[in-house]
Amino acid sequence: MRFEELPTPCYVVDEKLIVRNLEILNGVMQRTGAKIVLAQKAFSMTSMYPLIGKYLSGTTASGLYEARLGNEEMGKETHVFAPAYREDEIDEIVSICDHIIFNSFSQLEKFKSKALQGGRKIGLRINPECSTQDGHEIYDPCSPGSRFGVKREDFRPDLLDGVTGLHFHTLCQQNSDDLKTTLDAVEEKFGEWLSQMEWINFGGGHHITREDYDLATLESCIKRMQDKYGLEVYLEPGEAIALNAGYLVTSVLDLHKNGIDIAIMDTSATCHMPDVLEMPYRPPLFGSGESGEKEFTYRLGGQTCLTGDVIGDYSFDQPLKTGDRLVFGDMAIYTMVKTNTFNGMPLPAIAVQDRDGDCKVVRTFGYEDFKGRLA
Ligand SMILES: *Cc1c(COP(=O)(O)O)cnc(C)c1O
Repeated sequence: MRFEELPTPCYVVDEKLIVRNLEILNGVMQRTGAKIVLAQKAFSMTSMYPLIGKYLSGTTASGLYEARLGNEEMGKETHVFAPAYREDEIDEIVSICDHIIFNSFSQLEKFKSKALQGGRKIGLRINPECSTQDGHEIYDPCSPGSRFGVKREDFRPDLLDGVTGLHFHTLCQQNSDDLKTTLDAVEEKFGEWLSQMEWINFGGGHHITREDYDLATLESCIKRMQDKYGLEVYLEPGEAIALNAGYLVTSVLDLHKNGIDIAIMDTSATCHMPDVLEMPYRPPLFGSGESGEKEFTYRLGGQTCLTGDVIGDYSFDQPLKTGDRLVFGDMAIYTMVKTNTFNGMPLPAIAVQDRDGDCKVVRTFGYEDFKGRLA
């Protein structure tokens, strides 16, 4: 069907734009020999996994369910990191994950022998105590009191037997200058153990497919670890795979007024784009301007009873009418993976736009998806 015929609300992922991102990522792999895996936390659109698997080395997961998903739907390499593993899941994790990364020496001691018996590679997450992001403490694993990774002062070289890799993840939507700064901290604090390792994982948060991203600095960071310590380098971005590659198509249900003009949409910030409230950020909306920039300004609100379920204030050249379709941009990442049915909100359909512009709905949801999570 045509884009204009899609039901609303609907997430649409544009295959052409995903391929564009994948080509950039694959270029880094080709030029450096590094391996890049998809962090499913950001984007778990399984119908795209066969395509993604043509360009990337596999997936990474934050626990058993994501690991299963990556293993079932993409195959290739399956990596996992969790702040802690459960006794009752470790056997299944060992049966499907190639790399198992531990967050502490106590977890390592507890599960190391199982992982090694299963022939798996084991890694340790380190905390280089190097904050390079400002403002977003909830996204900074190096913030004070963070539960992620072993700090230098707690490092136990005597317990490294069997550990073949170190993993750090400290970035969020950042450029490669911050990676370089972080790598300096990693070397300063953990450099003496790097040459006894086989691999290093740079984590995610690299905005590699963003227009202003400095690929040359990224590639020199990779080469530095390869040349100096003989390490295999892994990266596990999530956002970068589907950055700016999807939309959320919505409709205006009603118009209302309370000091400002208000449009009620058939979507919800809190259910369909929770990062708008959590991050928080203002999603791009095609054909709109900032509040007051164009002649007609509206507050766009969701269908739930939460007063704060507001996407933002946007302006338009024409007044909005009931039934108008509004298309939000950059809606592939951290959206589908975070939806919920709070207040009985229906979940958006999921569609793919192929390279010829043709659209196909690949999944719809209904009442049972709401009811099925309750008892
Ligand atoms: C979130 C996360 C990623 C992916 O981060 P992006 O910001 O989506 O690139 C990778 N690795 C770990 C350990 C993560 O927690």
